[in-house]
Amino acid sequence: MNTVYMDNNATTKTDPQVREEMLPYFCDLYGNPSSMHSFGGQVGQKINQARESVTNLLKCKSSEIIFTSGGTESDNAAIMGTLSSYPQRRKIITSRVEHPAVLTTCKELENRGYTIAEIPVDRDGRFDMDIFAHELDDNTAIVSIMWANNETGVIFPVEQIAKMCKQKNVPFHTDAVQAVGKIPVNLEKNNIDMLSISGHKFHGPKGIGVLYVRKGTRLSPFILGGHQEHGRRAGTENTASIVGLGKACELAEKYMHEENTRVKAMRDRLEKGILKSCPDCMVNGCTDSRLPNTTNISFEYIEGEAILLMMDRFKICASSGSACTSGSLEPSHVLRAMGIPFTAAHGSIRFSLSRYNTEEEVDFIIDKMPPIIKRLRELSPFIKV
Ligand code: PLP
Repeated sequence: MNTVYMDNNATTKTDPQVREEMLPYFCDLYGNPSSMHSFGGQVGQKINQARESVTNLLKCKSSEIIFTSGGTESDNAAIMGTLSSYPQRRKIITSRVEHPAVLTTCKELENRGYTIAEIPVDRDGRFDMDIFAHELDDNTAIVSIMWANNETGVIFPVEQIAKMCKQKNVPFHTDAVQAVGKIPVNLEKNNIDMLSISGHKFHGPKGIGVLYVRKGTRLSPFILGGHQEHGRRAGTENTASIVGLGKACELAEKYMHEENTRVKAMRDRLEKGILKSCPDCMVNGCTDSRLPNTTNISFEYIEGEAILLMMDRFKICASSGSACTSGSLEPSHVLRAMGIPFTAAHGSIRFSLSRYNTEEEVDFIIDKMPPIIKRLRELSPFIKV
């Protein structure tokens, strides 16, 4: 068996059609899209075409799309760029389980004097709407809540949150990096003001993303310089990657149904197979509102990193919910926010699938996990047997 890649929430394989689309823009069509000559102009046209592909996927206007260097920049730009429009407002609302691209930005703003309200989640990773409603007030400069969680796949009610923000005249941003390309997003039908996406999470290239900004939303540019992206994001365009992102959006539209049926069925079979064959394990995160490709499973009494190392021997790639910081294994902030017990949070593994996975790969993992878990439990200092 070749490498079995089930770490698609970390990054995805670039679709070969995306690569083909990008190739001419390195050595042949290398003109600057801002140049007056038609050699550069044809690149500009291709960028506009890519922008159209993004708008088709998100159902928005092309003037509302700003190309960025990825999800992290889009998140930073949305949060930082909104604050100066509301200088008298001093509070930012986010959730406890955001990606560091949002949480670290908020931490920095806390150091600069902002109050940060981090909305908690319950044991199943669900967003607490009551606490949110209580926190949302006239002092709020921006609300930034992710659409889907990268570790558990739990989907938040962002459309409802956006509606509440609209009623209070508070700008709403969502980090939709894990949602776009996996579940339908329709910006015509909701009140979301800003939304971040990242190319490499849905078979596009790395280092390219989008910040969607609804017409009329007040946003200061985050990167200053030339007039690119209508003066909203300076710097010569990353042309090949923009072209690749456009193609990835086209393909995402095409494969969305498959993502929600075939990939979901494989994920469900993998999850059931592991739960059935490995004792003392459980799924983290509510299963009724979850990305179709993600399962996060805790194996009690063993460490996630040890499981990953054993899986690596069989060339199985996944992720662990604990990270090694200063020599001690710390469970992830997401699982801690959910209140997952220490012994379970430590042994959590995230499997995230894509359209490139096969039924044979699912069988392979279901076959390999029980002996791995059994072996590690025999060695575990926590074990009860
Ligand atoms: N937001 C979420 C939810 C993510 O999962 C990630 C990447 O893991 C990011 C933001 C950052 O995106 P990028 O890698 O494009 O900077």
